[in-house]
Amino acid sequence: MNQTEKHRLKIGIPRALYFYKYGPLWTAFLDFLNCDVKISIPTTSVIVEDGTKDANSELCVPMKIYFGHVKALLSEYDLDYIFIPRYVSSHKEQFFCPKFLILPEAVKYGLKFDTPIITLEINVKKNSEHESAINFGKILGYNEETMIKAWNYANQKYEEFQDKALKGHYIELLDELDTDPKHRRKKKMIKQIIPEAIRGKFPVNILVLGHAYNVYETHINRDLISRLKAMDCNITTIENLPKSEFIEKITINEQYHQYWQSEDEILKTARYCLKDGRNKIDGIIFLISFACGPDSLIQEIVMRDMKKRKMPYLDLVLDEHSGESGLITRIESFTDMIRREKFQ
Ligand code: SF4
Repeated sequence: MNQTEKHRLKIGIPRALYFYKYGPLWTAFLDFLNCDVKISIPTTSVIVEDGTKDANSELCVPMKIYFGHVKALLSEYDLDYIFIPRYVSSHKEQFFCPKFLILPEAVKYGLKFDTPIITLEINVKKNSEHESAINFGKILGYNEETMIKAWNYANQKYEEFQDKALKGHYIELLDELDTDPKHRRKKKMIKQIIPEAIRGKFPVNILVLGHAYNVYETHINRDLISRLKAMDCNITTIENLPKSEFIEKITINEQYHQYWQSEDEILKTARYCLKDGRNKIDGIIFLISFACGPDSLIQEIVMRDMKKRKMPYLDLVLDEHSGESGLITRIESFTDMIRREKFQ
């Protein structure tokens, strides 16, 4: 008996880490299987505090926030399962960050709760994504045919989402996945910095680089994108670039083969700034999580490349204590400096 013949399974998804990247895929996949999908509320200070309390202090801030979201979900809903995927590899030559490899266990042993975890494991080094979907379906009592259909449907929906995201509004599109009106993201009033008389006359084009869970995590990055927009900046992110920018391989040098998958995307986006996008981008802001191993490896490479080609570059390290005023001062002086250079 599968779950369409029983009650609809209530499955919770934490709104953190790769939810910001694969959320549209997961929700479409679970929707196809007739699950009742529940997403945790947008990040709050309480979520960050809760996560920080229980996570190992050496973990990066996105992991701590993830712990907080798991707790938020468990306290809001009576769930049949909590969905915690394991991303190992989706390209044969690359790996995801080790934190994604151990995510289900890190949560299970770090938080201790009774709700069962359901894991979708993506590891193309071991089996295809369709096989992963089939294995997932076995837990819920679905046959292979249904799971292949569900995976294909989810991927089609994911592509549609990515096409829409090319035009911007990524976070708004992502928020639409959660239909609970109580979870509406509260709009923060951001003060317009540029006087009305000259607004729009001296725009600056900024590429905001980094993992989607840093770039679109508005609580931890203090609404960075909205603040930049209030400073008359046009914003580009990884999610706005066409897929063609991610085809050509990144070569660093003969000794260092870049095998971190997400960092590969970041490096390819940085390369876009220096090649096809050279005349479209005036400066780069790289958002990095405190205690992130993979990002600290490529940060130096990106910084040196930008310096060599004279592309204005700023890195902002995010942690649970990041203050608002320090961040605003840094982005204001960065954009002012670019604007003076561009329009003088
Ligand atoms: S890539 Fe960095 S920020 Fe992301 S989970 Fe790994 S250590 Fe944390």
